[in-house]
Amino acid sequence: MSKTISINAGSSSLKWQLYQMPEETVLAKGLIERIGLKDSISTVKFDGRSEKQVLDIQDHTQAVKILLDDLIRFDIIKSYDEITGVGHRVVAGGEYFKDSALVDDEVLRKVEELSLLAPLHNPANAAGIRAFREICPNITSVVVFDTSFHTTMPEKAYRYPLPTKYYTENKVRKYGAHGTSHQYVAGEAAKLLGKPLEELKLITCHVGNGVSVTAVDKGISVDTSMGFTPLGGVMMGTRTGDLDPAIIPYLMEHTEDFNKPEDISRILNRESGLLGVSGSSSDMRDIHTAMHNGDEKAKLAYDIFIDRLQKYIGQYLAVLNGADAIIFTAGIGENAVNVRSSIINGISWFGCKVDPEKNVFGAIGDISTDDSRVKVLVIPTDEELVIARDVERFKNQ
Ligand code: ADP
Repeated sequence: MSKTISINAGSSSLKWQLYQMPEETVLAKGLIERIGLKDSISTVKFDGRSEKQVLDIQDHTQAVKILLDDLIRFDIIKSYDEITGVGHRVVAGGEYFKDSALVDDEVLRKVEELSLLAPLHNPANAAGIRAFREICPNITSVVVFDTSFHTTMPEKAYRYPLPTKYYTENKVRKYGAHGTSHQYVAGEAAKLLGKPLEELKLITCHVGNGVSVTAVDKGISVDTSMGFTPLGGVMMGTRTGDLDPAIIPYLMEHTEDFNKPEDISRILNRESGLLGVSGSSSDMRDIHTAMHNGDEKAKLAYDIFIDRLQKYIGQYLAVLNGADAIIFTAGIGENAVNVRSSIINGISWFGCKVDPEKNVFGAIGDISTDDSRVKVLVIPTDEELVIARDVERFKNQ
């Protein structure tokens, strides 16, 4: 019996979940926001309670101390020693990390070096790792990468048709993201379908603020929609997804906005997607409300969102040469009934049909008709659990 904590550190935030392992019971979870700013907020949820405190938290080390002290204060643990493992989510593992890894100096150095591929995320992930190493130096510490699951993609899928030197010298290739989520829901889908993963062709759709679609063949990722960075692929809450690359130099030449790389990156990553097209919100719930109130821009944003997802599913039906199931997960995939039906109703020729009686709010599992050749499943994702399980795996090695 031991307690393991999953950590997802952002540049100014730290999301955590504490498990009793191997039972996989969630003991508490929380979020620290506004790290490094005034009035940071720490929220702890446990036993149906939600406790919030506002205080100034300078950095990730202080954030980790505060979260551990909160666990003691709320009597969730008696001392730091009860936590025997920590798993850190890391966004970019490059070509180096094909699996999760035990943290040592070399691994930490690599995570920092890979900041080149995820400048917003890896430095924050590394700060979380350092903080735990300082405060709990003797626990099993594991890094779990968003990209590892996709390192099985064949070269024809991960290479871009650019001159080779940009791959060999600059490491420009497809890495994908959301790997833990795609891997988890693929495994759960096999259980639901009652077949070994090795016999299944699956299309997993992680549809949240970030959106990605993966083709999973026999449990292995063979292609995924996100690319060199999580900006590629389908349209998202604030990200463009795929664009004709010629648009960038064109806008650089003809507008003031596209002058500096950081401005271009901001527009494509934070001001586009549902937000950019609707002009009002990146949140699917707001888009629904606006659409129902007759907002045409919101309707167009919705239509493009559905269209891009349908096209990627179509691509992966081709890549896999058929599929046993299409899986929806994450905030929109798990909750937005109409998004699921809009997507599937438009591609029913492929043999997938949603049953309106099963496709209801709160549905989990099979939402397709009995005669649907391709099953349509809703499976809540659980990236924190994948991380906690990986820590257990390394503890037992
Ligand atoms: P993140 O990628 O930040 O983890 P989530 O997976 O939480 O995001 O997904 C957030 C998205 O899920 C938002 O667009 C939100 O509107 C959407 N969402 C959450 N609940 C619902 C709902 N009931 N109906 C439609 N969309 C929802």
